[in-house]
Amino acid sequence: MDEKLVDVYDEVLRRNPGETEFHQAVHEVLDSLGPVVAKHPHYADAAVIRRLCEPERQIIFRVPWVDDAGRIQLNRGFRVEFNSALGPYKGGLRFHPSVNLGIVKFLGYEQIFKNSLSGMPIGGGKGGSDFDPKGRSEGEVMRFCQAFMTELYRHIGEYTDVPAGDIGVGGREIGYLFGQYKRITNRYESGVLTGKGLAWGGSRVRTEATGYGTVFFVQEILKTRGESLDGKRVVVSGSGNVATYAIAKVQELGGTVVACSDSGGYVVDERGIDLATVQEIKEERRARISTYLEHHPHAQYVENHSLWQVPCDIALPCATQNELNGTDAAALIAHGCSVVAEGANMPCTPEAVRAFAEAGVTFAPGKAANAGGVATSALEMQQNASRDSWTFEHTEERLAGIMRGIHDRCLSTADEYGSPGNYVAGANIAGFTQVADAMVALGVI
Ligand code: NDP
Repeated sequence: MDEKLVDVYDEVLRRNPGETEFHQAVHEVLDSLGPVVAKHPHYADAAVIRRLCEPERQIIFRVPWVDDAGRIQLNRGFRVEFNSALGPYKGGLRFHPSVNLGIVKFLGYEQIFKNSLSGMPIGGGKGGSDFDPKGRSEGEVMRFCQAFMTELYRHIGEYTDVPAGDIGVGGREIGYLFGQYKRITNRYESGVLTGKGLAWGGSRVRTEATGYGTVFFVQEILKTRGESLDGKRVVVSGSGNVATYAIAKVQELGGTVVACSDSGGYVVDERGIDLATVQEIKEERRARISTYLEHHPHAQYVENHSLWQVPCDIALPCATQNELNGTDAAALIAHGCSVVAEGANMPCTPEAVRAFAEAGVTFAPGKAANAGGVATSALEMQQNASRDSWTFEHTEERLAGIMRGIHDRCLSTADEYGSPGNYVAGANIAGFTQVADAMVALGVI
């Protein structure tokens, strides 16, 4: 890290003790900004980087609700409104027992640069709760969402803060959240949440956007080498929203996905993962990926091991943060993997990212590769604002164009700042400079 930035990082460590994921995310961005502060000293004069590392607002609240047995349950809710220099705070809500303030802050911080990179007029934020939807009934999920929104509603709005889904929050949860917002405020404010159902203000392609966008990004990487996805062997971690539609798009473009996973283990199907089975298990039955073998007995299920041991040309980590470590990276490199693109947020540890760089594996960071989800959320906001509804083809074409634009901006920025081919540097610098310029223009606020 450039010596001019060490003090900023030390201040982040001092102010946010124990928030290891947040420290990791900040470190990764600051590591890239050395050439920027050298070229543009006015950013330091305006304390832009220090201000960027401090959220504009952090909200923590109690979420009491009643389970099916009549017992009172208690969870904690979070919303971190990190930066609004480019537009209203925008970022998902995560419901998972691991959620804490440090995780929400890392996600919110990443979101600032991702949203900037998308070219859309949106700031960065993130939220969630330590509520675990697994094993909960429909009624319990609904009552939890209603209790969560009963506090959150006062902090959000189409011009203020626009949440969406993330781990544990899909179309069902967005429905319950929107319903409660509408009930409390007596306003049909479509632009307050994205990821809505198509019948009530949602955008076509939003469900598919993150996974599709990640694969569009990989397509652009391969194009620079004169290659395509046709015939490529791909491993995708996770089997949720991002993983499902990454698998779908890889298959559509001629690749074969041979493995996917959930938090219990992974499935290998050398004939190619059957997406309809995965969707039936995950979207309809909300069951474990191990049950894939009931439909495809020739496949293999491996419990509690890293799926990165499965040989592939392309790896797409699409589950959660720090799921691919240095050992996993070594296995991928040994098996000849040449592209790793993050569908999830920060799934690769710093050791893994370093190993890829040293081995010449092309690495696309999440803030670039998975920006298609939030970009399509911004398209949903556009449609809501104009009371319009676009076709699937038009929306997908817009998404593909946005991903091409992000890809090209990463490469041209990396070139400009002396790190040709380095997508991490390109994404961090391009994302940063746009927000930084806006912050300078808006004054000390
Ligand atoms: P889902 O809840 O739909 O799916 C998450 C998947 O990851 C599930 O298969 C889940 O398995 C697995 N997973 C979750 N936590 C863990 C864990 N601790 N260890 C191992 N596996 C785990 O979430 P999404 O697909 O929406 O999100 C996946 C990633 O993509 C996250 O990092 C998210 O921040 C990121 N992302 C999502 C976007 C979106 O539009 N949804 C946009 C941009 C990024 P199990 O069911 O067993 O828990």
